[in-house]
Amino acid sequence: MDEASPYLALYRECGALLEGHFLLSSGLHSDRYLQSALVLQYPDQAERLCQALVPELPPGIDLVVGPALGGVVVAYEMARALGVKAQFTERKDGGMSLRRGFRIPSGARVLIMDDVVTTGSSIRECHSALPTDRAEVLGCGCLVDRSQGEADLGELPLYSLVSLPVGTWDPADCPLCAAGESLEKPGSR
Ligand SMILES: [Zn+2]
Repeated sequence: MDEASPYLALYRECGALLEGHFLLSSGLHSDRYLQSALVLQYPDQAERLCQALVPELPPGIDLVVGPALGGVVVAYEMARALGVKAQFTERKDGGMSLRRGFRIPSGARVLIMDDVVTTGSSIRECHSALPTDRAEVLGCGCLVDRSQGEADLGELPLYSLVSLPVGTWDPADCPLCAAGESLEKPGSR
């Protein structure tokens, strides 16, 4: 794993990676908490992170699409780094779709881009919103892969800047609870 990555150090400096004992919105407990918005609020850092991923990506990408909200800023910055267009999909009435007049040009070679990959569900939803007869999806990019290889992206390859394990547990099985560590709810302060 990439514990010593300078990009993780940047996440920590910006308060975008917290370590401790956290109550997640899902009700699970975790030992780490990621909030990419806190590093991406600095445009120069967002640019630096996305540029750093470019050498890992396959050639020929001509469109970047991100799932809103988490994927909007990183898709935009990745598109800037690649010199191509950025679009995003968004949730409406329970499904993810391309809205706002975005159109995928026929034959587009697409990178789907998100900030953090956990289960891959946002990326799968974004992928399913793209017209299969027009878009050729080359893969998915992310800044932090916290899936430990468990993300389900179908056949799509994943290109990540950093891999980071995050422990998550049901409260009843949480070793941090067992150790008496006080529980924090991130974003509540
Ligand atoms: Zn706990």
